[in-house]
Amino acid sequence: MKKITLQSEIEVAQTVAELSGMDAQLLARAKEAAKGAYAPYSNFKVGAALLMKNGVVVIGNNQENAAYPVTMCGERNAVFSAAAQYPNTPIEAIAITIISAKGGIDRPIPPCGSCRQVIYENEIRHQCDIRLILQGDIGKIYVIQSVKDILPLLFDASYL
Ligand SMILES: [Zn+2]
Repeated sequence: MKKITLQSEIEVAQTVAELSGMDAQLLARAKEAAKGAYAPYSNFKVGAALLMKNGVVVIGNNQENAAYPVTMCGERNAVFSAAAQYPNTPIEAIAITIISAKGGIDRPIPPCGSCRQVIYENEIRHQCDIRLILQGDIGKIYVIQSVKDILPLLFDASYL
Protein backbone atom coordinates (compact mmCIF):
# COMPACT_ATOMS: atom_id res chain seq x y z
CA MET A 1 0.00 0.00 0.00
CA LYS A 2 1.20 3.51 -0.76
CA LYS A 3 1.92 5.87 2.13
CA ILE A 4 1.49 9.61 2.25
CA THR A 5 3.35 11.94 4.59
CA LEU A 6 1.71 14.96 6.15
CA GLN A 7 3.90 17.89 7.12
CA SER A 8 3.48 20.74 9.58
CA GLU A 9 5.57 23.82 10.10
CA ILE A 10 6.02 25.31 13.56
CA GLU A 11 8.37 28.15 14.50
CA VAL A 12 9.88 27.79 17.96
CA ALA A 13 10.91 30.81 20.02
CA GLN A 14 12.93 30.09 23.14
CA THR A 15 11.81 33.30 24.83
CA VAL A 16 9.27 36.09 24.33
CA ALA A 17 12.13 38.31 23.16
CA GLU A 18 12.20 36.38 19.87
CA LEU A 19 8.58 37.23 19.08
CA SER A 20 7.38 40.28 17.19
CA GLY A 21 6.22 43.10 19.46
CA MET A 22 2.60 42.40 18.54
CA ASP A 23 2.82 38.68 19.29
CA ALA A 24 4.56 39.37 22.61
CA GLN A 25 1.81 41.82 23.56
CA LEU A 26 -0.88 39.36 22.58
CA LEU A 27 0.71 36.62 24.67
CA ALA A 28 0.84 38.97 27.66
CA ARG A 29 -2.86 39.73 27.19
CA ALA A 30 -3.60 36.00 27.05
CA LYS A 31 -1.73 35.45 30.33
CA GLU A 32 -3.74 38.25 31.89
CA ALA A 33 -6.95 36.68 30.56
CA ALA A 34 -6.01 33.34 32.15
CA LYS A 35 -6.13 35.01 35.57
CA GLY A 36 -9.85 35.56 35.10
CA ALA A 37 -10.66 31.97 34.09
CA TYR A 38 -13.28 30.07 36.05
CA ALA A 39 -11.61 26.70 36.55
CA PRO A 40 -12.42 25.45 40.07
CA TYR A 41 -12.47 21.79 38.98
CA SER A 42 -9.34 21.44 36.88
CA ASN A 43 -7.38 24.36 38.33
CA PHE A 44 -6.05 24.65 34.79
CA LYS A 45 -6.64 28.23 33.74
CA VAL A 46 -6.49 28.96 30.03
CA GLY A 47 -6.29 32.44 28.59
CA ALA A 48 -6.64 33.49 24.98
CA ALA A 49 -6.21 36.85 23.30
CA LEU A 50 -6.96 37.33 19.66
CA LEU A 51 -6.09 40.20 17.39
CA MET A 52 -8.63 41.19 14.81
CA LYS A 53 -7.81 42.85 11.48
CA ASN A 54 -9.42 46.05 12.78
CA GLY A 55 -6.83 46.17 15.58
CA VAL A 56 -9.22 45.16 18.35
CA VAL A 57 -8.03 42.54 20.85
CA VAL A 58 -10.68 40.15 22.18
CA ILE A 59 -9.95 37.90 25.15
CA GLY A 60 -11.41 34.64 26.36
CA ASN A 61 -10.77 32.15 29.12
CA ASN A 62 -12.07 28.76 30.09
CA GLN A 63 -15.38 28.60 31.92
CA GLU A 64 -15.97 25.36 33.78
CA ASN A 65 -19.20 23.96 35.15
CA ALA A 66 -20.17 21.33 37.73
CA ALA A 67 -21.89 19.65 34.80
CA TYR A 68 -18.50 19.03 33.16
CA PRO A 69 -19.56 18.64 29.48
CA VAL A 70 -20.91 22.18 29.29
CA THR A 71 -17.50 23.64 30.13
CA MET A 72 -16.10 25.83 27.36
CA CYS A 73 -12.48 26.33 26.30
CA GLY A 74 -10.83 29.74 26.58
CA GLU A 75 -9.86 30.09 22.93
CA ARG A 76 -13.30 29.06 21.70
CA ASN A 77 -14.90 31.64 23.98
CA ALA A 78 -12.61 34.27 22.46
CA VAL A 79 -13.36 33.25 18.85
CA PHE A 80 -17.12 33.12 19.40
CA SER A 81 -17.11 36.44 21.24
CA ALA A 82 -15.11 38.07 18.42
CA ALA A 83 -17.44 36.62 15.80
CA ALA A 84 -20.46 37.91 17.71
CA GLN A 85 -19.07 41.41 18.15
CA TYR A 86 -17.37 41.79 14.76
CA PRO A 87 -19.02 39.32 12.36
CA ASN A 88 -17.39 40.81 9.26
CA THR A 89 -13.86 41.18 10.60
CA PRO A 90 -11.22 38.47 10.15
CA ILE A 91 -9.02 37.32 13.00
CA GLU A 92 -5.29 37.79 12.42
CA ALA A 93 -3.75 35.95 15.37
CA ILE A 94 -4.59 34.11 18.58
CA ALA A 95 -2.32 33.72 21.59
CA ILE A 96 -3.11 30.90 24.01
CA THR A 97 -1.44 30.27 27.36
CA ILE A 98 -2.15 28.90 30.81
CA ILE A 99 -1.76 29.28 34.52
CA SER A 100 -1.72 25.72 35.83
CA ALA A 101 -2.17 24.62 39.43
CA LYS A 102 1.03 22.62 39.41
CA GLY A 103 2.87 25.41 37.59
CA GLY A 104 6.01 25.15 35.55
CA ILE A 105 4.50 23.48 32.48
CA ASP A 106 7.11 24.37 29.87
CA ARG A 107 5.42 22.86 26.81
CA PRO A 108 3.28 25.10 24.59
CA ILE A 109 -0.42 24.38 25.15
CA PRO A 110 -2.14 23.42 21.90
CA PRO A 111 -5.84 24.03 21.30
CA CYS A 112 -8.03 20.93 21.60
CA GLY A 113 -9.45 19.33 18.48
CA SER A 114 -12.80 21.10 18.77
CA CYS A 115 -11.12 24.49 19.06
CA ARG A 116 -8.91 23.73 16.06
CA GLN A 117 -12.02 22.99 14.03
CA VAL A 118 -13.67 26.24 15.18
CA ILE A 119 -10.56 28.28 14.37
CA TYR A 120 -10.39 26.65 10.94
CA GLU A 121 -14.04 27.48 10.24
CA ASN A 122 -13.16 31.11 10.98
CA GLU A 123 -10.21 30.95 8.57
CA ILE A 124 -12.51 29.64 5.83
CA ARG A 125 -15.27 32.11 6.63
CA HIS A 126 -12.98 35.10 6.17
CA GLN A 127 -10.44 33.53 3.77
CA CYS A 128 -7.72 34.55 6.19
CA ASP A 129 -5.15 32.38 7.97
CA ILE A 130 -4.95 32.84 11.73
CA ARG A 131 -1.50 32.84 13.33
CA LEU A 132 -1.32 30.85 16.58
CA ILE A 133 1.04 31.80 19.41
CA LEU A 134 1.18 29.05 22.05
CA GLN A 135 2.94 28.86 25.39
CA GLY A 136 2.61 26.87 28.63
CA ASP A 137 3.15 28.42 32.06
CA ILE A 138 6.69 29.19 31.00
CA GLY A 139 9.25 28.28 28.38
CA LYS A 140 9.38 28.06 24.63
CA ILE A 141 6.68 29.45 22.37
CA TYR A 142 5.26 27.92 19.22
CA VAL A 143 4.23 30.22 16.39
CA ILE A 144 2.08 28.53 13.74
CA GLN A 145 0.93 30.44 10.67
CA SER A 146 -2.37 28.60 10.25
CA VAL A 147 -4.37 26.07 12.23
CA LYS A 148 -4.22 23.90 9.09
CA ASP A 149 -0.66 23.03 10.17
CA ILE A 150 -1.99 21.29 13.29
CA LEU A 151 -5.25 19.95 11.87
CA PRO A 152 -4.31 17.42 9.21
CA LEU A 153 -7.07 15.84 7.11
CA LEU A 154 -9.43 18.51 8.29
CA PHE A 155 -13.14 18.43 7.60
CA ASP A 156 -14.81 21.37 5.89
CA ALA A 157 -17.87 22.33 3.91
CA SER A 158 -16.38 21.04 0.67
CA TYR A 159 -17.48 17.55 1.78
CA LEU A 160 -21.10 18.59 2.29
ZN1 LIG B 1 -10.66 23.62 23.14
